[in-house]
Amino acid sequence: MATAPARFEFYCNRGATQLDYTHDVPQELISRATLAGKDGAYDDLFTKVVWSVVKEREQACRIASNTRCDNCGQPTARVLQSTVSWLHKPNDPSIGTWILGLCDKGECEIQLRQRMGSTLLQIGADLNRGTAQSCTELLMCNVCGETAGSKRCARCRAVAYCGKEHQRSDWRRHKESCKCPESQTD
Ligand SMILES: [Zn+2]
Ligand SMILES: [Zn+2]
Ligand SMILES: [Zn+2]
Repeated sequence: MATAPARFEFYCNRGATQLDYTHDVPQELISRATLAGKDGAYDDLFTKVVWSVVKEREQACRIASNTRCDNCGQPTARVLQSTVSWLHKPNDPSIGTWILGLCDKGECEIQLRQRMGSTLLQIGADLNRGTAQSCTELLMCNVCGETAGSKRCARCRAVAYCGKEHQRSDWRRHKESCKCPESQTD
């Protein structure tokens, strides 16, 4: 598979720390970038490639990240990644990933994810990078961590599951924090 270099930026600690890396990605991710968000096969490939880079850099990102939950200020239990793509920019294809600190409370995850969804594109504009082609939350099953084919909870759209089985097994815990976003546009 032909590859081409793309820049990966990680914004940690509310953007105070930026980590920059260059990784080779499949050429078609760049050449077909206008399909982002419209073509399932493209989005699957995008998720797979971005996840592998995020996993590789996770340790560095954690070290650079806020040690307090970005929602409530409690100590961080894990990090949440939201990604914006500028792969459609021919002279500077890049991917930006916003790293947020998160405590172990489900409601903080929901609130942060819902807030990020509506502000990611704004962040792109603020970085003077121009309009992003797509913004993607890296979805991982809330139970087992599987990324392939994980789908959002239809009600809160903030967490994801690999299938019905894990959605059902997590419901007792998740129902406490599962709420509709205030303004649902889609
Ligand atoms: Zn919190
Ligand atoms: Zn699962
Ligand atoms: Zn839910």
